[in-house]
Amino acid sequence: MKEKTIKSLEEISAVQRMLEQNGVWARQQYLKDAHYLARLDFQQSPNVLWIGCSDSRVPAEIVVNANPGEMFVHRNIANQVATTDFNCLAVLQYAVDVLKVKHIVVCGHYSCGGIAAALRPQQPGLLLVNKWLMRVKDLYRLNQNEIESLPTQRERAMRLVELNVIEQVQNLAHSSIIQEAWSSYEQPSIHGWVYVPRSGKIRELIEMQPRSAINPIYM
Ligand SMILES: [Zn+2]
Repeated sequence: MKEKTIKSLEEISAVQRMLEQNGVWARQQYLKDAHYLARLDFQQSPNVLWIGCSDSRVPAEIVVNANPGEMFVHRNIANQVATTDFNCLAVLQYAVDVLKVKHIVVCGHYSCGGIAAALRPQQPGLLLVNKWLMRVKDLYRLNQNEIESLPTQRERAMRLVELNVIEQVQNLAHSSIIQEAWSSYEQPSIHGWVYVPRSGKIRELIEMQPRSAINPIYM
């Protein structure tokens, strides 16, 4: 039998390392609870839909110590909930109408590259990213006086992160998927959070319970 060469971490690629670590992780899961993953093979029943940023520093399950099966997850640049985005809407519809999640969390984060980019002129060569961030630019424009009253660029970006989370929570509440769920099942509640990368902690910004009041023009 051919002897397997043991390579140092420096020698193997990042992707090979991921596959090796997957083996380690799967073994750890088995030792912790031999049947946990096998039970999930039959069905999932997560209580939470997480809508977060794609940023590598905010890994959804890790920052809330969640296990496989606990969260249905959708991530995109700057944690957007766009009513023109079929990807996000399909995730939302499945999570709400099929999985019947009890909570939706929109989690933004400080030091968000998407939010910082939205505060700068558009970048040539990144046409799709520019388009994706256009609604964050709109949000800046609508709140420009408040944001520009802050003394530093860092604080201005932090405030736009918060306003962006609140806006996405509102976008969810304005969707027909949520309004129908609220009137039919009295769930889910919607939570807007901000993750602080330097501390690893989450701050709560806003919460909307089922049947919360919304502007009638969205009803
Ligand atoms: Zn981000």
